[in-house]
Amino acid sequence: NPLARARYLLAAHTPRQLPPDGGFEVAFAGRSNAGKSTALNALCQQNALARVSKTPGRTQQLVFFDVTAGSGGAAEVASDQARYLVDLPGYGYAKVPKDLQAHWQAFLAGYFRNRFALRGLVVVMDIRHPLKDYDRQMLGYAVERGLPAHALLTKADKLSRGAAANALQAVRRELSSAYGDTVGVQTFSGESKLGVEEARAVVGRWLEF
Ligand code: GDP
Repeated sequence: NPLARARYLLAAHTPRQLPPDGGFEVAFAGRSNAGKSTALNALCQQNALARVSKTPGRTQQLVFFDVTAGSGGAAEVASDQARYLVDLPGYGYAKVPKDLQAHWQAFLAGYFRNRFALRGLVVVMDIRHPLKDYDRQMLGYAVERGLPAHALLTKADKLSRGAAANALQAVRRELSSAYGDTVGVQTFSGESKLGVEEARAVVGRWLEF
C-alpha cells in the first residue's frame, strides 16, 4: 500500500505556502465529524496521521501529506514525481471571523481552479447525512474543473447491510443526475475497514502509482 508512506509535510495558509505545483495530488474534503480523519488514517494504515489537521488554528489550511516513493519522499525527487494527499479542513468545529472565512473561500476556490497537480477529489460523507451544502460545493469545484471525484459514504458500519445498500443507491442516483458519471461513490467504514481497498485503488489510480 503506497499510501502507508504518508508523512506530514506542511500546512499551507496562503497560495505561496503550497509546495511546487508539478506532481500529483488528491484532495480530501468532508464536513467536520464526517469521519475524514478516520478515513485518511485507514487508507494510510496509520493511527494519528490526520490529527495534525485538527489542531486549533489549522482549520483554514491545506494540510499536505507526502506519499512520494523513495526514502526521502518529495524532498529527494524531481517535483514532477511528488505525490501528495491534501487534507481540506471541513466546516463546523471552528467559528472564524467573517474576513478570514472569505480569505479561506477564495484560497480554496483558487486552489481547485488553478492547481495543476490536483488529479481528483475524495469527499467523505457520513452515510446517514450525505450531500450537504459543503459536500455539493466541493463536488461542484471539482466537476467545474473537469476533475474526477469519489464519494466515501463512511460509518457504513452504523447501518444494516440493507440500509447501507439503499443509501448507496440513493446517493448514486443523485450524483449521476447532478454530475453525470464523473463522480464515483462507495460505502466505507474506517472502523470496520469496509471499502478501504476499493478507495485506495481509486486514489492510487489518480496518483498514477
Ligand atoms: P473528521 O472530523 O471528519 O475528521 O471525523 P473523525 O474521523 O474525527 O470522526 C468523527 C467521529 O466519528 C469520531 O468519533 C470517530 O470515531 C467516528 N467515526 C469515524 N469514522 C467512523 C466509522 O467508519 N464508523 C464509526 N462507527 N465511527 C466512525
